[in-house]
Amino acid sequence: MSLRGWCPSLAEPMPAADGLLVRLRPRLARLRAAEARLVADAAARHGNGAIELTSRGNLQLRGFSAASAVAAAAMIGHLDQPARRPQLLTAPLLGVDPAAHPAGEVLAAGLGAVIAALPAVSGRAEKFFITLDAGGAAGLGATGADIAITAAVPAMRDAGWVLRRDGDPHAVVCATDAVVGVVEGWLRDWLRAGVARMRAIGPGAAAAVRVGAAVPVHRIPGVAMVSVPFGAMDAARLRAIADRADPGDGVLRLTPWRVIMLAGVHADAYADAPAGAAVRACIGRRGCAAASTDTRADAAVLAAHFGADGDVHVSGCAKGCAHPMAAALTLVGRDGRYDVVVDGRAGDAPVREGLALADVVAQFGLHAGALA
Ligand code: SF4
Repeated sequence: MSLRGWCPSLAEPMPAADGLLVRLRPRLARLRAAEARLVADAAARHGNGAIELTSRGNLQLRGFSAASAVAAAAMIGHLDQPARRPQLLTAPLLGVDPAAHPAGEVLAAGLGAVIAALPAVSGRAEKFFITLDAGGAAGLGATGADIAITAAVPAMRDAGWVLRRDGDPHAVVCATDAVVGVVEGWLRDWLRAGVARMRAIGPGAAAAVRVGAAVPVHRIPGVAMVSVPFGAMDAARLRAIADRADPGDGVLRLTPWRVIMLAGVHADAYADAPAGAAVRACIGRRGCAAASTDTRADAAVLAAHFGADGDVHVSGCAKGCAHPMAAALTLVGRDGRYDVVVDGRAGDAPVREGLALADVVAQFGLHAGALA
């Protein structure tokens, strides 16, 4: 096993302040209830029990030693997408949403096979991701994907699918049976180019795929949306969510919105409203040596202040792990205080530096709420 300083996987844990961290990328961002319980067991038995749902619908497990990370990988490795290859992120209700394109599942299987057949590329495949959005009630929207595949709107459904490469302003529209071939060709281009992200081999135009995926704010009949505030939970919480999935179709659908969807569960869908879901925070100084602030505690203060609608990101440092995209307001921890970025990412230039949390609320509260 090797240790890496970025983009952890099950085979390549990342050191953190609370031990090694591993990342599981469940196929199609789904876990059956029994599989979720297995993940919970691996987290509790071999790690410190902390589990995080990431902005790409992955699960991070924390607090491992080198030996216990190997033991956890042996337990749950069969649930992971192929290592050192691009990730496929599918809309969470693929296959159960009658409003979605009916070929979504078939495409997902075809794309999964193409990705699995690619040669492993360590060091540059880990951040590369492909989105498949078949439309319907919980579409992915724009996520900053390297390759975005979106169903044509229902009125144009015969047109098939719209395919975009990040960095290329020109979309490709093609029928279902041509999608996998086009994407495979783009992936081969990317492999040959030897770059990390698709935008590096585009024609140099502005990014075609914009940022800003947001949790669906409407009810979805027959779907319970279980909030995971800041993406943080423990093994017991994951087991409890698995228990709630059993009366439905028994599947936990992991989303990029810090929400787990359960289909077929009789529930008031918004009883588990994603309160605070638009306020994102990394683990901060509780689990990362790069942080000097308690990001989760400060984010909870901001969520209470701005409500669920604030478009806010509290980052322990300029890396921006919890939300690599733009937000109306981004707080970047430094020396126990915050630099503030407006309408940008954690690594962008701040408009104010070295503010206490109370000063951020006083000076930027209106902006955070108004632009949500
Ligand atoms: S954003 Fe910085 S502080 Fe937060 S988890 Fe990532 S590296 Fe650590």
